Amino acid sequence: MGKITLKSVSKSFGATSVIPRIDLDIADGEFVVFVGPSGCGKSTLLRLIAGLEDTTEGTILIDGRDVTNEAPARRGLAMVFQSYALYPHMSVYNNIAFPLKMAGEDKSAIDKKVKDAARVLNLTNYLERRPGQLSGGQRQRVAIGRAIVRQPKAFLFDEPLSNLDAALRGTMRLEISELHQQLGTTMVYVTHDQVEAMTMADKIVVLNAGKIEQVGSPLELYRSPSNLFVAGFIGSPRMNFIEGAPAAKHGAKTIGIRPEHLAISASSGEWKGTVGVAEHLGADTFVHVHTNGLGTINVRAPGEIGVEHGQAVWLTPDPSKLHRFGADGRAL
Ligand code: ADP
Ligand code: MG
Repeated sequence: MGKITLKSVSKSFGATSVIPRIDLDIADGEFVVFVGPSGCGKSTLLRLIAGLEDTTEGTILIDGRDVTNEAPARRGLAMVFQSYALYPHMSVYNNIAFPLKMAGEDKSAIDKKVKDAARVLNLTNYLERRPGQLSGGQRQRVAIGRAIVRQPKAFLFDEPLSNLDAALRGTMRLEISELHQQLGTTMVYVTHDQVEAMTMADKIVVLNAGKIEQVGSPLELYRSPSNLFVAGFIGSPRMNFIEGAPAAKHGAKTIGIRPEHLAISASSGEWKGTVGVAEHLGADTFVHVHTNGLGTINVRAPGEIGVEHGQAVWLTPDPSKLHRFGADGRAL
C-alpha cells in the first residue's frame, strides 16, 4: 500500500514561506506528477514527503499513519534523484544490492531481489559492470533498481531524467511508465517539463510559488485549465491569449485559444494577419502570425501547409475550444 495524504502542510525556511499551505491526496498505486517552473517548491514538497525536510506545520500520513515526525528511513519510501549517486567502485549488482546488505538480509534473498529488479530494468547483462562502464540511461536504471529492491510503498523521483539527452529522456519516460504498470506502486514524480507530466501522470499537480494551481488528469488540465497560469503552462506550443474587444465579445477579460484550435486560410476568416515565421516540421506546421491589434498568434496546422513569410492570412478559432478568463485570471 502507498497512500499519501498531506493535511495543511506548510514549509518555511526562516522567514521565507516556500509552501504556504497544501492539502493533497495521493491514492495507492497512482502516478502523480508535481510540475511547475523552477523554484516553485516541487523538490521541497517531495522532500517533505520523504522526510528529508521537517514540515513547519501540518500532518503527513502514509497509509493513514502519521509520519510527520518520523525519520526518512522509517517511512518506507524510496527516492531517485537527478544525480544517480551510484558507488563508482562497486559493480551494478552490488550497487543494487547495497540497501539490502545494509538491512542485513541474507544472501539468497538479496540475490533473488537483485536479479528480479535487473530483469525488469533490462540490466541482467550488465550486473558485473561498474557504473563508469554504463550509459547515462543505464546508470539511471541502476539507481531505480536500488530503489525497487527495497519494495517501497512509494517511489519519489526528483527530475530523474534532467541529465539525459532528449532522445534518451523520451525512452526513459516510457520505461518508467512501463515500470509503474508492472509494479503498480505509487510514484510521485517531480519535473519542470510539462511534456513529462502530460505523458506519464495519472494525476498532475500544477504548482506555482508553492501553491497548488490545479490538480487533475492530463486531459482535464488540457481541456479545462482553471486559470491563466495552468492554461499557459500545460500544452505545447503554448495557448494564445487575447484581450480587448475579441475577449469582451465573449464576456471575458482574456480569451485563450490553443494553436491547434485555429484554422488558417488565405482567403477568409475572423482575424487578419501576416505570416512571420513558418516552422515546417513535416507532421505539423507552426505558423507565427502577426495580427493588427491582437499581437502574434501561433497556429499549429496538421501536415505540410504552403505558407510563406509575409503572406496575408486569416485565422478562425474553433468556438467550442475557446477558453474564457475573468479579470482575476480564473476560468469563467
Ligand atoms: P523547485 O524544485 O520547484 O525548483 P525548490 O523546492 O528547490 O524548487 O525551492 C523552492 C524555493 O525554496 C526556492 O525559492 C528555493 O530557493 C527555496 N529553498 C529551497 N531549499 C531551501 C533551503 N534549504 N533554505 C532556504 N531556501 C530554500
Ligand atoms: Mg527541484
